[in-house]
Amino acid sequence: MNDTMTIDTARLPMLLTQLRLPTVARLWQAIAETADRESWPAAKTLAALMEHEIAERAQRRTARHLLEARLPAGKTLDRFDFTAITSISKARVTALAEGDSWLARGTNILLFGPPGVGKSHLAAALGHAMIDAGYRVLFTRTTDLVQHLQAARQDLKLATAIEKLDKYHMLVLDDLSYVQKSQAETSVIFELISARYERRSLLITANQPFGAWDAIFPDPAMTVAAIDRLVHHSIILEMNTDSYRRKSAETKVTKKSANEANDS
Ligand code: ADP
Ligand code: MG
Repeated sequence: MNDTMTIDTARLPMLLTQLRLPTVARLWQAIAETADRESWPAAKTLAALMEHEIAERAQRRTARHLLEARLPAGKTLDRFDFTAITSISKARVTALAEGDSWLARGTNILLFGPPGVGKSHLAAALGHAMIDAGYRVLFTRTTDLVQHLQAARQDLKLATAIEKLDKYHMLVLDDLSYVQKSQAETSVIFELISARYERRSLLITANQPFGAWDAIFPDPAMTVAAIDRLVHHSIILEMNTDSYRRKSAETKVTKKSANEANDS
């Protein structure tokens, strides 16, 4: 190794840190060795290093997006049992998970159904799929988000708070119908819906279909206006089956009593 080479080599880690190329910093020695041994053209060596950097950068980005999304753990599409629910088709949900055009257009998804049918699970599963596709997602309980936005409104920073949510292509409002009358009075949810209208998707889950939404907004006119904006570009999935939670508990009980019957 000549002197210039040693000097270049010594400077490399610093240069790569300055350029924020951690993967190249980690791999350049091994790749350079291979390149020397196999007499790679310089361009091939350079391309190999850059491709590694790009690939890991994408991985790091996805990992960051997954962390910030606060999705409930383990609720992915492959863990969702479509045989348990007849009112929505696997093909339809799979198409939503695999195609992101609805998200790119700011289409909303509304998931209705009684407690325990798998609304939150499906919302999280779609969130996972969109993060894998490179989008940013935030999963929130609606009551928490309302609290956060109300606090912002008190500080006269509601517009800024809503703008900050813009970076999330998909915002999950889980359990919209749990918003209480006292929370409804400030109408922050309406502001949020209006701000995202035709630009950014909302995925809303609710136990109650529209008929019971008067409790969520301060007055009936606002309820109508909110529903109007939400459904204008939306996909509505109604999950009207029995609670999966209760069914699986019942299966366990049945199995247990069957076992007990066998035991006696
Ligand atoms: P909801 O939000 O409608 O009240 P959840 O999504 O929280 O219901 O579902 C309740 C529990 O049952 C969760 O642990 C969820 O993972 C599970 N679950 C519900 N439906 C299904 C399903 N079709 N396949 C697998 N697990 C399910
Ligand atoms: Mg839920």
